[in-house]
Amino acid sequence: MSAAIIDGKAFAAGLRGKVASQAASFARAAGRPAGLAVVIVGEDPASHVYVRSKHKAMAEAGMKSFDHRLPADVGQDDLVALVQQLNADPVVDGILVQLPLPPQIDEQAIIATIDPDKDVDGFHVVNAGRLAVGLHGFVPCTPLGCLMLLKERLGDLSGLDAVVVGRSNIVGKPMAALLTAENCTVTIAHSRTRDLAAVVRRADIVVAAVGRPEMIRGDWIKPGATVIDVGINRIDAGEGKTRLVGDAAFGEASQVAAAITPVPGGVGPMTIAVLLRNTLVAAHRNAGVGYEKGAL
Ligand code: NDP
Repeated sequence: MSAAIIDGKAFAAGLRGKVASQAASFARAAGRPAGLAVVIVGEDPASHVYVRSKHKAMAEAGMKSFDHRLPADVGQDDLVALVQQLNADPVVDGILVQLPLPPQIDEQAIIATIDPDKDVDGFHVVNAGRLAVGLHGFVPCTPLGCLMLLKERLGDLSGLDAVVVGRSNIVGKPMAALLTAENCTVTIAHSRTRDLAAVVRRADIVVAAVGRPEMIRGDWIKPGATVIDVGINRIDAGEGKTRLVGDAAFGEASQVAAAITPVPGGVGPMTIAVLLRNTLVAAHRNAGVGYEKGAL
């Protein structure tokens, strides 16, 4: 079998188009564009690349982003004060603090300072709690993007066996909560899981969010399964070059799976598209502007 490729890039482009058209309606109704404040601390090059692409995507969708750059040695109190100021700013609908933060900053305390209704990353414990108990709230962008791809591919997920490999707060745990809400039978695997291969082999849906290049082998995959590869790993490609690979061994897994996301071009593009979507949802709520159910 040669798996169908789940084209996250195309799906994300479609979502961004939908967001852009809704963003234009929002701006007309609210008299201002939807706004996202992006806070970045320090000079980490990867973080700056991510933040630049978020600003660019916001502009392309007709939304406004506010750029807040702080020096690497900023103190906790100054960062808290900035977040509080953004919480109170009526034209800021969403607040994103780019992680990781430098060691002198208590990351959890900063996330806890963000108004949960502006927490478009969905990292605040209030939003994690809302997801856990099935209330509306913001869901972290990457797992929500994975769920969108799965539903687009498989439709109803009810009764399917899903294995999520990885239990981080930003990917694995919310992914498992989303799949549970979709009536999957969910197993969360992690570094202490015994016989991971056997656990993965039971799954109709495998979500790999480990951060280990090509760890999930083809013979771990149940024939006909759907594989969502969240991993982004840069490996040596020889001759001084590098290339990106996922957490699943794509060549092998695509011989067995019915469908698989590639790396790059699978889950990656979904993350920013969902961030735009979450920001626009926040804007509608913040400004008291309604939108058609299912439009976002
Ligand atoms: P974390 O490092 O926070 O979590 C990794 C998880 O994998 C942990 O739960 C860990 O288990 C588990 N793990 C590690 N080694 C093994 C192993 N040998 N067997 C089984 N489980 C293992 O990573 P993230 O969740 O933040 O990210 C995961 C991957 O997804 C990374 O490659 C990251 O780059 C990528 N990513 C991609 C995004 C995108 O936009 N596409 C966004 C976010 C992340 P334990 O808890 O026991 O330590």
